[in-house]
Amino acid sequence: MRCRHCGWPGDEAEVLSTHATSEGWVRYRRCVCGAVSIELVRLAGPGVRAEPVREVVPAL
Ligand SMILES: [Zn+2]
Repeated sequence: MRCRHCGWPGDEAEVLSTHATSEGWVRYRRCVCGAVSIELVRLAGPGVRAEPVREVVPAL
C-alpha cells in the first residue's frame, strides 16, 4: 500500500514504533513526506497470516 499523500511505498517508510494490542500489532510509520501511517496487522487463526490495514494521518 502506498502513501495517500505522495505515493511513496509504505513498506519503505520509517517505522516509529510497534505495539502489541488485543486487535493485533499496531505499527506507526513515518513517510518521507512527513505523513504518519498507522498499520494494524491482524493475526487471524493459528496460521501466520498478517493483514495490514493502514490509515494515513496527514502531517501537522
Ligand atoms: Zn508520503
